[in-house]
Amino acid sequence: MPETRPDDVLPADLPDPVRAALLAPMVDHHCHGVRRDDPSRSEFELMITESGAPAPPGTTHFDTPVGAAIRRWCAPVLGLEPHASPAVYLSRRSELGAGEVNRRLLRAAGVAAFLVDTGLDAPGLLTPAEMGRLGGAAADEIVRLERIEQDVAEAGLSAVEYTGTLREELAARAARAAGLKSIAAYRCGLDFDPSRPSRGSVIAAAGRRLADPKRRLDDPVLVRHLLWAAVDVARERGLPLQFHCGFGDDDVDLHRADPAVLTGFLRALAPIGVPVVLLHCYPYHRQAAYLASVFPHVYVDVGLALTHTAAGSARVVADLLELAPFHKQMFSSDCYGAAELCHLGALYHRRGLARAIAGRLAEGEWSPADAARIAHMIGSGNARRVYRL
Ligand SMILES: [Zn+2]
Repeated sequence: MPETRPDDVLPADLPDPVRAALLAPMVDHHCHGVRRDDPSRSEFELMITESGAPAPPGTTHFDTPVGAAIRRWCAPVLGLEPHASPAVYLSRRSELGAGEVNRRLLRAAGVAAFLVDTGLDAPGLLTPAEMGRLGGAAADEIVRLERIEQDVAEAGLSAVEYTGTLREELAARAARAAGLKSIAAYRCGLDFDPSRPSRGSVIAAAGRRLADPKRRLDDPVLVRHLLWAAVDVARERGLPLQFHCGFGDDDVDLHRADPAVLTGFLRALAPIGVPVVLLHCYPYHRQAAYLASVFPHVYVDVGLALTHTAAGSARVVADLLELAPFHKQMFSSDCYGAAELCHLGALYHRRGLARAIAGRLAEGEWSPADAARIAHMIGSGNARRVYRL
C-alpha cells in the first residue's frame, strides 16, 4: 500500500528552511475531542459536516469539499490509495478501529500541542490528555464560559448566589486552563451592548434565568455579565479569551457572528490588555484581519474554514495574509468528533501557506529567511506567546 510522505503536501521547489518551518510541529490552539468509538456511516457523515441533517436522499456528505479531501488525503494515512471510495474508506476505518485511526490521523497532523475546548456535551469524546497521548503532543484545556454558566444555573441557587458562584467557578476552572472561550455568537449574537451590565440588571435577569435553568443561556444581559466576569479572571491569570466568529453549526445566525460587530467590545477591552482570539471568522475573515491589524490585543485564525473549504482553502489563507500582521495569525484545526478533521486542518494550513509563500518568493517580496520565520510564527510561535505555553 502507498505511504504518503509528509512533504508530499508541499510544492517541490520551496527552499529547505521554508519547507522545514512549514513541516515543523504546530500548536493547534483550538480543537475539540475526537470520538473514541467506531461511528456508523450515517454518524460519520454527520461528523464531517456543520449541518445537523443527513444529506438529501440519494446524496452523501462525502460529496463536499471536506468529503473529497478525506478520500484524497486521509485514505493514504489508513493505508489506502488516494481517492478511495467512501464505502472502502469507512470499511478500512472500522477494520483498523477508532483507537488506531485516531492515533494515525492525529499523528499525521504534526501537532506539538493541542488546546482542547472541553465545553461540548457529546459523550464519548477523548479528553485533552488522551488527545495528547494519541497525537504524540502536549495538551491543555480551554474552558467554555457558557458550559460553566449552565452548570451554575442548574445548581439550584438564588439570583444573588448565582452571580457570586459564577465568579468562583470561572476562577476555579480558569486556574487549570490555558484559555477561555465564548460562543456568544450562538447565543445572542456578537452585536451585544459592549458595556458591563449593572448589578441590578444582572440580578433581575438571573431571576428570570433561574426560573427555567435547563434552557440554554441567551439573555444578552447575562451573556455580557458572563463575558465581563471572564475578562476579570482572564486579566488576573493572564489568559486569552477566544470568540467563535463566522460560520459553524446550523444554529448560528451568520450575520450576527461577523467579528466586525464585536468592535465595540474589542475597543472596550483594549486598555485592559486581555488577548482576544477571533476563531474561524469565515466568510468574515477579512473583517477579522482588519481587527487584528488595528487592535494590539486581537488575534485571528481561520481554523474550521480551512477544513471545510479544503481544495479551495488556499484562497482563505491568502485573504488573511493580505492584511493581518504575521504576529497575529494562528493555526487551529477545530477538529471535533472525526480525527480526519485534525489532519486536514493541519494539511490545508501548510499547503495554503506554502502556496502563498511560493508566490511571494517568486516575486521577490519575501526572503526565504523571512518566509521560514513567518511560517513558524503562524504555526506555533504566536500561540506559544499568547497562551504562554
Ligand atoms: Zn470549535
